[in-house]
Amino acid sequence: MTTHRLLPLLAACVFSAAAQAATPDSCDAERVQLQVLGSGGPELNDQRASTSYLIWLDGKARVMVDVGGGSSLNFEKSGARFADLDAVLFTHLHVDHSADWPVFVKGGFFTGRDRDLPVYGPYGNHLLPAVDKFQEALLGLGWSYLSNYLVNDERAAYKLPATVVNAEDTVWFQSLERVTLKGLNVNHGPLPAVAWRVEAAGCSIVFSGDTSATSDNLTRLATSADLLVAHNAIPEAATGVARRLHMPPSRIGEIAAQAGVKKLVLSHRMLRTLERESDTLREIRKNYQGPVDFADDLSKYAL
Ligand SMILES: [Zn+2]
Repeated sequence: MTTHRLLPLLAACVFSAAAQAATPDSCDAERVQLQVLGSGGPELNDQRASTSYLIWLDGKARVMVDVGGGSSLNFEKSGARFADLDAVLFTHLHVDHSADWPVFVKGGFFTGRDRDLPVYGPYGNHLLPAVDKFQEALLGLGWSYLSNYLVNDERAAYKLPATVVNAEDTVWFQSLERVTLKGLNVNHGPLPAVAWRVEAAGCSIVFSGDTSATSDNLTRLATSADLLVAHNAIPEAATGVARRLHMPPSRIGEIAAQAGVKKLVLSHRMLRTLERESDTLREIRKNYQGPVDFADDLSKYAL
């Protein structure tokens, strides 16, 4: 599969670390909102949909980040239209970030969408496939059901071209008609993972995805962002596998402060962090003094 036929509207390249975080204009906050479709992790008893976010621009949902289980129902509740989306981004491919994708694709058949919907996500390794191969497996390439969205088949009114991002040191970016997407690899144990920065109308929203944030890549990507969505998957005292996969509240506060983000939203809330919000906030406040909010499903944030 290829993205080439999306040109000339798109232009992809990489650029220097010095320029990576620059947002050229001041944020036109009236025009941009973040909405949380899923504020939970993978648990079955957290009363939350799994991870998913929408970025609204001028009253239309233009970018969706992750599509965990339950996100498609909250997409309906949000009033968003599938036909309006300009891009779908995956931070990584565990099911709590990706499982509803076939639900969206099948549902999209009934929406009148007739233009390609580009999909972006991480590279693969021995533990997870790259986003293009993942999508082919998920949508059943080789059967006749949803795979017509991936191949040249006139039954599908549009295609889902997938772009693999692997940006270890240098920020990857792509400018679409209305939004600019920037990605940088982050540590999530041994799993391929990408943090995303979405810029629109001079505003910037950064998504940590799941990460232990052992490198400074998330800080680099989040520099001067109007809003950072950070995943609050573990409490401060977590150790072992959980700590190798996720960042504790103190690290979130450190990153928010060092990056100088204007607002912090905590999501991917799990049973091990729910009802520990005051502890979490105390750790964050050791470094970061800006506004902090704990997300719920369908929470909507102005910038
Ligand atoms: Zn997760």
